[in-house]
Amino acid sequence: MKQTVKILVIEDEKNILNFITSVLVSQDYQVIPAASGGEGLSLASSQCPDLILLDLGLPDMDGMDVIGRIREWSAVPILVISARALEDDKVRALDAGADDYITKPFGNSELLARIRTALRHSSRMQSDAGPAERPYHCGGLVIDFEKRLILRDGQEIHLTQNEYKIVALLARHCGRVLTYDKLIEHIWGPYSENDNTILRVNMANIRRKLEPNPADPVYIFTEVGVGYRMADED
Ligand code: CA
Repeated sequence: MKQTVKILVIEDEKNILNFITSVLVSQDYQVIPAASGGEGLSLASSQCPDLILLDLGLPDMDGMDVIGRIREWSAVPILVISARALEDDKVRALDAGADDYITKPFGNSELLARIRTALRHSSRMQSDAGPAERPYHCGGLVIDFEKRLILRDGQEIHLTQNEYKIVALLARHCGRVLTYDKLIEHIWGPYSENDNTILRVNMANIRRKLEPNPADPVYIFTEVGVGYRMADED
């Protein structure tokens, strides 16, 4: 029998909570509602949800603190529900340990896609024991991590060392956003300057080589003020 996936929704706005609940229930997810940070924290430990949807603006505590408290003991995927245009909040939430965010107002298909991606990544992390890594497939793009090979429509794409490192990291986290800082630290090390210019230059070159139309990317998307997100696999 298929086990029900439990999702804890920490959201104080009743209409948003109702909307999320009806979307999730229609997909056979079990919803555990919480209207405050305190209630959410206690349900997170007593119910052991498979995923947490967290509104950052809560009546009793800052959503960032909720993330921090949960991360002290759990790696459960946390999707932050964020108001539009608060890029700083999104970056802070990701840095605090959230897995991804979804911006209000959002539709049901976007919500479900984000949830599926987060659940898949967490189950892959639990089951990935072997050294062999499956290639990334999306549309005509294939990234073979073992062979360090990128093909688009069967044609090999040649990237520099750093360009490849950026693309490979994004592909390993496909469907999820990676912040500028996280990418910079991964490629140029923890003591590199937090200057996005060099990353942006690299991304422009990557897009020129990788994207069929660099002005209208289909593989790597910009999340303005936050970072980049690679298209999820087929
Ligand atoms: Ca709120």
